[in-house]
Amino acid sequence: MSQQLVYTESYFDGSSYHNEGPYKVTVSDGVIEAVTPCTSGDLPDDHAKFIMPGLVEAHCHLFLDGGELDLKKRSEYLKAPFEEMIEVAHKSVAANMAAGITLIRDAGDKYGVNHQVRREAEESREVTPSIRSPGLGVRKPKRYGGFMAREVESREEIKTAVEELLETGDELKILLTGIIDFESGSVKGTPQFDVEETKFIVDMAHALGRRTFAHCSGLLGLEVAAEAGVDSVEHGFFMTRDILEILAEKQIAWVPTFSPVYGQWTHPEVVGWCDETIGHLRNILDSHLEHVAMAAEMGVPLVVGSDAGSLGVVHGKAVIDEILFFLEAGLKLEAALNAATSLPRRLWNFDSIDIAPKNRAEFITLAASPFENPENLRHVSAIFKDDTFVKIG
Ligand SMILES: [Zn+2]
Repeated sequence: MSQQLVYTESYFDGSSYHNEGPYKVTVSDGVIEAVTPCTSGDLPDDHAKFIMPGLVEAHCHLFLDGGELDLKKRSEYLKAPFEEMIEVAHKSVAANMAAGITLIRDAGDKYGVNHQVRREAEESREVTPSIRSPGLGVRKPKRYGGFMAREVESREEIKTAVEELLETGDELKILLTGIIDFESGSVKGTPQFDVEETKFIVDMAHALGRRTFAHCSGLLGLEVAAEAGVDSVEHGFFMTRDILEILAEKQIAWVPTFSPVYGQWTHPEVVGWCDETIGHLRNILDSHLEHVAMAAEMGVPLVVGSDAGSLGVVHGKAVIDEILFFLEAGLKLEAALNAATSLPRRLWNFDSIDIAPKNRAEFITLAASPFENPENLRHVSAIFKDDTFVKIG
């Protein structure tokens, strides 16, 4: 039996901040046995300032490098050899780990990179983030999502695709709408699937024991997602109070992914946006902040995911940015951190790693408490996972 003692000045357990420390965390064979207050005199020199459960990234594309801002290179990359994509994905996983993320949900790629890195993570003897992978999603022929979804049209095709995808996929991704047309400041076109089709997909996935998450923005798509009862709305731009009421009632999660829009707003020159379009981007962000605040008040399960891999959205760093957007919306730090730790694990039926007795020990230590300054979230000093301490940086 192995026992490790971790001393910390304060900690966040997954939902609450504990600042009456210092504390001693006793870990036996990788499981937290006890968290007890101790005296300052007991603190060894190398004690932690702050610990919290490992972070969750709920929406990213590991095979894409968000830091690549050259649009031509980005589109050429989609024809790159598999080995090159795997190399990019390895860097993405490492960047997530350096940011204190211990669980990643990939949001789809058609090349099989996400499944491959998931397999590698499962087989790895090194400490590495756990990966949840959908493989490919489903979309309608010729509609948005070419790099991450399989085309389906008839019920028969949908049925076959869902069955086949869920042989290996942890969740089912549904491409429910297109993307935002920033020039008009709206989502163009009708949803890819109507309510009946979406219900059919959701019911099938549920019958196979899987959850669904829907790429969805714009009122028409959001109405379909809410009515059909997908398990999670991804992006959800152009949200309304009426839709939030349904999300709260059905406990549908919302992953608002501020970062891709914020990235374009801060780097309009990359795409060549004019002032009018920059204005649309700002309005979209302001409305998003307002609706995330509303969602929190109404009890919608909010989850932190960044859409890293998108233009200007850098793996790892972007998850912290998202937490800070939640704060900008007016959420308390406890709520924002809960959305990036305890809540997604519970929604996805993962064992809790909240810092409490009987839970598996999977936590990160920070150089200073984020409750003193949220920017401290960017300074991870170590990860404890698989009964092993790994120093960061
Ligand atoms: Zn995405």
